[in-house]
Amino acid sequence: MSPSVSRRLPLVYHPHYSCSWPPKHRFPMSKFADLHAFLLTQPSVLATASWHQPELPPHAWVEAVHEREYYRAFLGSRLGDAEARRIGFREQLSRPELIRRTRLEVGGTVLTAKLALRHGLACNLAGGTHHAHAGTRAGSGFTILNDLAVAAAYVRKHEGVSRVAVVDLDVHQGDGTATLFEGDGSVFTLSMHCGANFPFRKARSDLDIDVPSVGTADAGYLRLLREALPTMLRRFRPELAPPWRRGSEPQAGVLYDAGVDVWEGDGLGHLKLSHAGIWSRDRYVIETCVRSGVPIACVIGGGYDRDPLALARRHALLHRAAARVWRGSARLSGSAPAEVPLEGLAPGRDPGRARSGITEKKARDRVGGPRLIDA
Ligand SMILES: [Zn+2]
Repeated sequence: MSPSVSRRLPLVYHPHYSCSWPPKHRFPMSKFADLHAFLLTQPSVLATASWHQPELPPHAWVEAVHEREYYRAFLGSRLGDAEARRIGFREQLSRPELIRRTRLEVGGTVLTAKLALRHGLACNLAGGTHHAHAGTRAGSGFTILNDLAVAAAYVRKHEGVSRVAVVDLDVHQGDGTATLFEGDGSVFTLSMHCGANFPFRKARSDLDIDVPSVGTADAGYLRLLREALPTMLRRFRPELAPPWRRGSEPQAGVLYDAGVDVWEGDGLGHLKLSHAGIWSRDRYVIETCVRSGVPIACVIGGGYDRDPLALARRHALLHRAAARVWRGSARLSGSAPAEVPLEGLAPGRDPGRARSGITEKKARDRVGGPRLIDA
């Protein structure tokens, strides 16, 4: 990261990311506002951040990815019951508030990607709706529009970016993103997920890592990640251009889905990462991209907890990790550094072991790549 690029870490938020919502609904709609409120109590983040508010995205941005028929039916509250069931929002799906917040979330991830290209790193306080597919039955799994895909398509078309990688570490496979870009050599999809979890019919990403649920805790998970991320970056290396040295060169960028449903107590995940493990994961991904000169735009992804404050704190690990990397004062470690401020978070479990479940579609080599962080 060049300190001359920007003095402040761009964070993207809109007060309508959260809308009114049935209190017992499984989807934690308040978490975006809760996350924002929590980050406002974090001096280390506030001292580093600049805040940016997205606008509603033009329809053309969304229709570059999703079928016009599906998108217009959603906007017009005309999606059918089957679609509503697949998405999981039922009667909520036709509410103008939900339609607006869904569009704002897409606009927010596009804005985050644009800011990352200018400053090297940026974070949204929402995003990661990766189960939305192509076609006229696109929505599923609490996702209606695929913000990651819209952002990837936008930066290719409008920002001169020739290659985009989606690094999806949500516990659920990024099946929608994978299908939307299957066969598209300009977008590399990496999904590291719990194989024994939704979606049970998996799509084919460019690089899929099926993390075994039994016994996969911090150490095993991070070991798999340290194989996967350098492998992805090696594919990008010929086109890399650090933000401060771009000119008219082809550019590459990473969209990072930092879902916290990998946490050991998550309501919808089956993995066993501790909070310290999530912190190490986010630090590793962000630091690796920044050191490699790859702009990285982060979104929060999934996370499910009945306790809204606990969930907000968990999602905030991403923004705190980004702030730490931004300040450039961190020393990375494979395990949780002693100085990590995890107050209010439950302690993690002992690291476990994991079998490697790496499968690749486009290339079969398993290159370790440069190890930027020693285990
Ligand atoms: Zn998820």
